[in-house]
Amino acid sequence: MVEKTECVVIGGGPAGLTAAIYLARFCRQVVVIDAGNSRASMIPRSRNHAGFPEGIGGPALLERMRDQATQFGAQIRVGEVRDIEMIADGYRMQTDDGPLEARAVLIATGVVNRRPPLDEETHERALQAGLLRYCPICDAFEVRDQRVAVLGADGHGVAEALFLSTYSDKVTLLTLIATDLDAGDRADLDRAGIEVEPCPVSAFDFAEDTLSATFADGHDRTFDTLYPALGSNGNCALLQALDISLVDEQCVPADDHQRLNDRGLYAAGDIVAALDQISVAMGHGAIAATTMHNDLRKRDGQTPG
Ligand SMILES: Cc1cc2nc3c(=O)[nH]c(=O)nc-3n(C[C@H](O)[C@H](O)[C@H](O)COP(=O)(O)OP(=O)(O)OC[C@H]3O[C@@H](n4cnc5c(N)ncnc54)[C@H](O)[C@@H]3O)c2cc1C
Repeated sequence: MVEKTECVVIGGGPAGLTAAIYLARFCRQVVVIDAGNSRASMIPRSRNHAGFPEGIGGPALLERMRDQATQFGAQIRVGEVRDIEMIADGYRMQTDDGPLEARAVLIATGVVNRRPPLDEETHERALQAGLLRYCPICDAFEVRDQRVAVLGADGHGVAEALFLSTYSDKVTLLTLIATDLDAGDRADLDRAGIEVEPCPVSAFDFAEDTLSATFADGHDRTFDTLYPALGSNGNCALLQALDISLVDEQCVPADDHQRLNDRGLYAAGDIVAALDQISVAMGHGAIAATTMHNDLRKRDGQTPG
């Protein structure tokens, strides 16, 4: 027996949960399936999310959103959607609880940051202490005038170091493997007063309020915070299963209404090519849910002409 519902949201981060709140309040049946690795759950305290002048932790924000969605009737299930295929009136998904069919599906699966080589416990402790950060747009304000290390001497690292140089004149670019910077990048970094450490890092050691980097030639340096700029991988296996073309092999170009096709498939949040921020993910979620509802109304002959 295959379970059937109206709308499935794959991913329970800020994008998927916002969509679930809206869909539930449009009186739609909605099931959220979430593997539980929201990037928002890594945020010790967000201070740029509007409406929380004292800041809010990522896990607390997600819990509030889950409460809000379930209050209006959304079902939230922990688990993974392993496969998806198009069927006559929607999509069939393989979930941990068995097959599930829906007339409309929102992909809100997010992305995963590439990490420096750190064990899980050290990674978590450094994040919580603000010694390790992934989002200068979110929290560069908190590292003004600090000794900031940026890891990744390619295009990502250079761009991130230049961004951070407007907050501190003590920004150093580090690399994990010996890298030749091109002349243009080198000139931009010099102009911005960014130091480039040519010797690759061999290890990081996180103390209570500083971190030290040990380099391949044996010398050490101390910094106040580290921004890995190693890029990210989109959680896009389901999109590939549906033959949706990707941008840079890791995100999708949704239309202005968050549609991926005219067959009931939508996308929201970091997996969409846009600014990776909570407020953007929430905006996408709201637009996607409203489009899903109105597209279903149209399919059911509930709209004019
Ligand atoms: C350390 C850090 C600090 C940040 N600070 C801020 C900040 O202060 N302000 C701000 O605006 N942004 C911040 N961000 C960015 C913000 O967290 C993201 O933009 C936001 O979480 C994106 O929401 P999303 O719903 O698109 O994806 P996510 O929150 O990543 O959620 C995606 C969910 O989908 C699930 N999933 C993936 N594949 C499947 C599948 N096949 N089946 C079921 N579930 C699946 C994942 O497990 C995950 O739970 C920060 C990010 C990090 C890493």
